[in-house]
Order: sequence, then C-alpha cells, then structure tokens
Amino acid sequence: RSKSISFIGLGRMGSEMAYNLFSKRFAEATDSHFVVCDAVEEATKSFQDNFLGQFPGAKLDVVKTPQEAVLSSETIITMLPSTPQVNTVYRQLTGIIPTLRSFPSAGFTLLIDSTTLDVQVARSIAAEVIDTGADMVDAPVSGGVLGAKAGTLSFLVGGMSTAFERARPLLELMGKRIFHCGGSGAGLGAKICNNLVLGVEQIVVAEAMLLGQKLGLDPAVLASVINSSTGACWSSSINNPVPGALPDKSPPCERDFEGGFATALMLKDMGLATNIARNTGAPLPLGEAAEKLYAHVLVEDPQLIRKDFSSVYRYLSQCAQE
Ligand code: NAD
Repeated sequence: RSKSISFIGLGRMGSEMAYNLFSKRFAEATDSHFVVCDAVEEATKSFQDNFLGQFPGAKLDVVKTPQEAVLSSETIITMLPSTPQVNTVYRQLTGIIPTLRSFPSAGFTLLIDSTTLDVQVARSIAAEVIDTGADMVDAPVSGGVLGAKAGTLSFLVGGMSTAFERARPLLELMGKRIFHCGGSGAGLGAKICNNLVLGVEQIVVAEAMLLGQKLGLDPAVLASVINSSTGACWSSSINNPVPGALPDKSPPCERDFEGGFATALMLKDMGLATNIARNTGAPLPLGEAAEKLYAHVLVEDPQLIRKDFSSVYRYLSQCAQE
C-alpha cells in the first residue's frame, strides 16, 4: 500500500489532476502503483487508455468501490461533485470510513479531499476519519480545468500540520501554490469565500459588458479599459464572457461556453456560501442575489447547466433583447 495512490473521481478536474500526479510520480519511482475509481465506467476506461498509452510500463488498476481503493493504497485523493457524493464515498458500506474501521492496519492512510463541499459535513467526515487513526485534509482547489491540466492549481488546505506535511509533496505534483489555511475545514472555508467573490464578480462583469454595448461601446475597447482600470478582475480579464472582447481566444465564450466551470457547480458553491452564512450569521446580500440569479438562469435555460458559468452573460443578453 505504501507505494500506491488511489484517485476517486475522474471528472473534468480529477482526470487532469490524476494524470499530472501519476505521470510525475511515475517519473520519480517507476515501481509506483496507481488506482482509479469513478461511478462512470467510461471515465476510468478513457483515463486508463490515455495514461497507459503514454506510460506503457506503469501499473494502473481500475477499481469499482472506495473499499478496494483503501485496501490497495495508503494515499487516497477524492475529487467529487459535492456533499452527497462525498458522503456516499466516505460513509457508504463499501466506503472509506467503514473500510478504515474494519481494517485497523489501514490506520496510516492519508485522505485528501479536493471536492468543494459543505464545510460542516467535511469537518464531521474528517473527525470520523481521524478517529480511525488515519490522517485527512480538505484541499479544495482554485485554478479551473486549465490550471488542473497545467499543474498550476492553488490548493487551499485545512487539517492538522502533520497531515498537511504528508499531503504537501503530492499536492506539489498537481499545483503551484499550496496554502495551509488552518484546521479541518479551513481550506473549504477559504475556497467558499473565494468563489463567493467570483460568482458575484462574473455577473457584474456580464452586466457591465452588456450595458456598455447598449451605450454603443465596442466590447474589445470596453474590456481593455476595465482590464487596465479599477474594475479589473479575473472575470473580465481572463473569463470575459463576450466573444472577441479579449485579444486571445481562450475564454469559454469563444467555444459557446463549453469547458470551464459549470454553471451548476457555481450555483452549488453560491449555495454553500449562503448556507454557511445563515448558520454563522454573516450577511450576504449580494451572494444571495447571485445564487437566485444562477438558479433562475438554469430553470430558464437548462442547456447552460454544464456550460461555463460566464454563460450567465448569454442569459442576460437574451433578456436584454426582449
Ligand atoms: P465533474 O462532475 O466533472 O467530475 C466529478 C466526477 O466524480 C465524475 O467523473 C463523476 O462520475 C464522479 N463521481 C460522482 N459520484 C461518484 C461516486 N459516488 N463514486 C465515484 N465517482 C463519482 O466535476 P469537476 O468539474 O471535476 O469538479 C469536481 C470538484 O472540483 C467540484 O467540487 C467542483 O466544485 C470543484 N472545482 C471545479 C472546478 C472546475 O473548473 N471544473 C474548479 C475548481 C473546483
């Protein structure tokens, strides 16, 4: 188990992260063993074909349950959609926690959960994991699919220092900046606050770009003004939602909003922020308004569920034409 790493959840982010982690670890130690698991068979099959195509000598197994992952590997990384899936993977009968309880020798296991999920659920799962003798960190990421592919993600880590130090060398194979934000759940707290800013910011950039066009401004001129003025932000300078507004062709709006960060995931993150705000008494007037707008967008235009959340611009432009 000591030379084996399991990765559970090979979606848009997980497949890129696992590829970087496994390929760099294989370059360091060719006797490493890798294990992948996903609820969708196609996801593991295409990862296996791709990885073994590039590294034919590598040992890579596909397993069907988190239990098999725990029994094969000392280190397990999870990258799942959100709270319900993390609950299932950690707490179901063939999940991580029941397996750790049944096999006390698995106590040295390190769990790294990079999912963005409810902080309170994550803290209670981490407490149950630590109670079995294993280590656990929450390590959500910032940087999107491009950062995952390039290995330049930021990891926002919560957990005990000993667990953080165990996780750090692996996180460095998938990311550039590794922040130890505090105890269990602190990484998720930082991630949820960051995405609260991002979710609100993307809407206001869409509003400004539309208003500018109503005032007769060329989107490319308006974007270059904002991006060199006090309104400059990621949503305007990297993820600008208007095709042709940025000199390069990389934002998702240039591909009909394909790829990037799904609107459904942004709605989920806004919900995580407003929920924890209600539980802690923090006022979020803009966060609540943004959550309502993303929810409304997905009801009105369900095609946008998997498209990048900057597609909120497409919805607002349709409203503007009415
Ligand atoms: P995704 O939906 O593309 O991938 C999730 C994967 O988990 C899928 O392959 C799915 O089949 C698998 N899965 C679901 N339930 C499972 C189960 N019970 N057992 C095993 N596998 C299961 O999502 P994503 O875009 O990769 O995002 C993953 C996480 O990263 C989310 O929490 C998201 O909020 C966060 N995140 C995403 C981005 C982004 O740009 N996509 C950026 C930062 C953070």
